[in-house]
Amino acid sequence: MVISCRLWVEPMLRLEISGSVQGVGFRPFVYNLAESLNLKGSVQNSTSGAIIELEGDKEAIEAFLSSLKSEHPKNAKIDTIHKTELVDKNYKSFEIIESELTGSISANILPDLATCPECTKELRELKNRRFEHPFINCIDCGPRYSIIKSLPYDRANTSMSEFAMCKACSKEYKDPKNRRFHAEPIACKECGATLSLKKKDGSLIASDTEAIKATANLIKRGYIIAIKGIGGFHLVCSAQKREALNKLRERKNRPTKPFAVMLRTLSDISKCTEFSKEEEELLTSREKPVVLLKKRKPHRLEKFCLSCECIAPNIDRVGVFMPYNPVYIMLCDMLKAPIVVTSANLSNEPLCTDQKELEEKLGGVYDYLLDNDRGIINPIDDSVAFVLDGIPRFIRRARGYAPEPIKLPFRLKKRVLALGAEQKNTIAIAFDDKAIISPHIGDLDNIDTLERFEKTIALLKDMYDFEPDIIVCDKHPSYSYRKYLKNQKTEILELQHHYAHALSLMCEEGLSEALAFCWDGTGYGDDGTLWGGEVLDVSKEGYKRAYHFDTFRLLGGEKAIKEPRRIILSVLAERFFDIKDIKESCQILKDIDDDQLKTLLKMHKSGLNSPFSSSVGRIFDAVGAVLFKMPYTTYEGECGMMLEALYDKSINDSFELRLEEDRICFKHIFEELITQKDTKRLASMFINSLSSVVCEISKDVRKPIIFSGGVFQNRTLCEKIISDFKKIGKTPIFHKRVPTNDGGISLGQIYYAGLHETR
Ligand code: ZN
Ligand code: ZN
Ligand code: FE
Repeated sequence: MVISCRLWVEPMLRLEISGSVQGVGFRPFVYNLAESLNLKGSVQNSTSGAIIELEGDKEAIEAFLSSLKSEHPKNAKIDTIHKTELVDKNYKSFEIIESELTGSISANILPDLATCPECTKELRELKNRRFEHPFINCIDCGPRYSIIKSLPYDRANTSMSEFAMCKACSKEYKDPKNRRFHAEPIACKECGATLSLKKKDGSLIASDTEAIKATANLIKRGYIIAIKGIGGFHLVCSAQKREALNKLRERKNRPTKPFAVMLRTLSDISKCTEFSKEEEELLTSREKPVVLLKKRKPHRLEKFCLSCECIAPNIDRVGVFMPYNPVYIMLCDMLKAPIVVTSANLSNEPLCTDQKELEEKLGGVYDYLLDNDRGIINPIDDSVAFVLDGIPRFIRRARGYAPEPIKLPFRLKKRVLALGAEQKNTIAIAFDDKAIISPHIGDLDNIDTLERFEKTIALLKDMYDFEPDIIVCDKHPSYSYRKYLKNQKTEILELQHHYAHALSLMCEEGLSEALAFCWDGTGYGDDGTLWGGEVLDVSKEGYKRAYHFDTFRLLGGEKAIKEPRRIILSVLAERFFDIKDIKESCQILKDIDDDQLKTLLKMHKSGLNSPFSSSVGRIFDAVGAVLFKMPYTTYEGECGMMLEALYDKSINDSFELRLEEDRICFKHIFEELITQKDTKRLASMFINSLSSVVCEISKDVRKPIIFSGGVFQNRTLCEKIISDFKKIGKTPIFHKRVPTNDGGISLGQIYYAGLHETR
């Protein structure tokens, strides 16, 4: 029975707490608080959070309730407190009791957290019993999601169930006054997992501290080591050795794509980058994501870290993070030098989590292996973020953040499963007022990622005892998950990709209408062409395609993505009719041999395997291809980042992008791009012109103006829009909770299901 407000201070009370209260020191906090107030009763984990029962005098209970809200542990998050009258149980003391396993599951699974300052101190303390223990953790830090098999979050339900606690650990685990009370993954050198440095044939070189020492030496000597982290393996090498980096690039077949660098201290980070207060907070946060920072110019200490041309070539940003687990802390302490740390996976596949998989896929890439025997149940990548306008924004939402739920602006009647997009896939489940978005899964065009996709759905279903009433998917008819969908008997809703982009941001902001600039790579449009330069007018009823970039053919479909000169060709073929003229018109078209050029022009004419597209992402590629004379790109977003690096704030000129009916005309700018030489000016003009056209379209709009899609990972463009909007008295809205790229699509799909319900 729910009691009224007047009665909640009655001396016997049961509190049902929902939120992130498991594995964060919530129960010991409750225990100590109750003890200090002389209250009797109990606390236990439940499937929805925690249950507290209290007996004692009125004032004490009142004090308890106010402290519960204001003083709870920093990693705990209370969503709701449901109070009921308690049948007198005659408690003799206050106790912590075993988890109750009834009811539907809705407690939150916690993300993996970086080693806390307290544990870091103990790790370095010679006299501490966990000195140099490579798996040190406590109630405030350590693995969570990556080791969990099912809820509630108890040791028996994690991969730590294989390790029996020693006496000393067990004492800490059971002591409510200890900061490791019910820290599920706790262990020590006596009873925990073992670290082992191995040769590729599996033979052991060294264990534990010795293994880290030997690893440090091997890194100094230029070797590439596969290191098992929290959510999977990394490939690690020295950031000071050109040969090592070149070897890593060559072996991983990754000629120019930027790597992330791990640096030990903020002062080290400041040697090679510039960062703001907000960026510093993000770097040192409990999540410790990879943060994209501006490279310091000129590089004062190029020798300290090769961040200029080897680590992140041709761009002005570099991804930086700080050691976030005991192994990396110890390794960085020993090396006192930066290391390159990159995911051990084939491009866009899930991380490798065991030695066998690693050997099969990347056997030729690493020289040695720093392994351990703590199982990774759920692989998870490092998160990647950047700061825009003082606020952190995700490029990839994974370790440290996922799968923490996102609160919906309404309550769902039905249970919804959203399948996300094909690239940068995330899936989401939602019920009541919360959406649980999976960590970044990857690109679904390969079997292993597709398998991870299905496993992640199974995992979330299992953990939350969840069966969907509705599945929402993308409209694209040939997404890889269509096969999975065929076997589902649930009702299916299909949603246009860019509308989903808009809705994902509207969900974050709780908006019911907006003018949405949805600019990205490509998504399947309502007319069967590939959209990606859309301005959608979104209302409660649905959306209207208010404007879109003028369409152009993607010659050879997918091929045009890797070879952006095909886009230039496609645009120029509308202006020049003679092969000779076309070749003469643009430097990078000269190398295409006549036969191939003829074939491509035929495709342009007939449309064979050359769909129309309005993608701004592709236009970025084409502009970059002309300016940098780059016929091919080697990774997604390369041209955009190179253009950003050239951007000069003092240049105010821009190209005129004309609005003709619902089209944003851009093709004429290529005439200037191919004839003029000042790349810095042209790059700046291009970015300025995008912002100008946004302002032109937005100036008389009354609705909130929102920006979603991969193009808005371009910080320079976003900053330009912010400053131009100030001049017209408007505020642009960008993503805060999910990535602006396709990683956010699943949240938009959830929001759609909610809107559908209320219609
Ligand atoms: Zn800790
Ligand atoms: Zn122990
Ligand atoms: Fe997209």
